[in-house]
Amino acid sequence: MPGWTRIYGLLVLPMLLLMVGCASDKQVIAQANDVHTQIKPAVITDPTLDSYVQQIGDRIVAVAKEMHEQGYGPKAHQSADSEWMFKDVQFHLVNSPTLNAFTTGGQHVYMYSELFIISKTEDEFAAVVAHEFAHIYGRHVQKGMNRQYAILGGAAAAAVAGAAIAGENNRMTGASIGAGVGYAAGQFLGLGFTREDEDEADKIGFQFYVRAGYDPNRFADFFRQMIAKGYDKSPEITSSHPKLSNRVKNAERRAGELPPIAKQWRKPNIASAERFAELQNRAKLYAKKVPRDKTLEAAQLLLAAFPSCVAPEDLPEQKQAQQKILDSLNTREK
Ligand SMILES: [Zn+2]
Repeated sequence: MPGWTRIYGLLVLPMLLLMVGCASDKQVIAQANDVHTQIKPAVITDPTLDSYVQQIGDRIVAVAKEMHEQGYGPKAHQSADSEWMFKDVQFHLVNSPTLNAFTTGGQHVYMYSELFIISKTEDEFAAVVAHEFAHIYGRHVQKGMNRQYAILGGAAAAAVAGAAIAGENNRMTGASIGAGVGYAAGQFLGLGFTREDEDEADKIGFQFYVRAGYDPNRFADFFRQMIAKGYDKSPEITSSHPKLSNRVKNAERRAGELPPIAKQWRKPNIASAERFAELQNRAKLYAKKVPRDKTLEAAQLLLAAFPSCVAPEDLPEQKQAQQKILDSLNTREK
């Protein structure tokens, strides 16, 4: 599959250039900033919505920082200086009809407007915010990049890096789907989080969520909603992600295991139920009135192509977006 070789080439190129065998935080942060320039046209700039989503994120991060200071988290978390993840992480609400949430592993988290609009409560939405931040906390993007590097290794890596350099030149000429979008997507298409990463993000995210004052019994609401909508059909064995029903069971178990003091952690939500509904309407209206242009379309294509963080497997529209980007890369290679 030449397309995937190209994708891997794009992926390992920055690492080869730096002559290191392990993805560092610095590289992941730089790459995430680079990808962000492609996504930016889809970021909802409405200050009310922007600050609301950021406040939820900040509430999660503040707790994560405290738990970090108490030594909480997996080995990958404790493996390096983590100060960067407790400041300047941006939680973006993005204008996208795709049902997903995603992080590129540096200081950017993307909460998709579709997910925001269908969430029934702030608790339901905040659970996904906490899950995304947990991917950063657990350094899952760094792990994914190392995995790809290990698969390729040596000569094969050098060969595809050559192809990637050729791709870089093509990128300068621009392309129908928008210059840079294919390149940006390439770094993540082959890199979806593993089932273990997803389980770990649920586990860590649950702790942050509960200590940030949210309702432990609401953590799995988003998964419950997806099950009700029929998203849990594929068997876990063929899926790279945990089954939604298992994610619900795990959250219920975790809620049952909380110490009695957990009752004192509860805090009022940032928005009342009424206010939350207003904010959802605001996001709907924003999507309607924002002018559609090529840069927005390209950013939405990229958002659609990111692997699913919430469904047991990528949705048909996500697979289509990935294929579209692969096709465009292959066309440019000829
Ligand atoms: Zn995830």
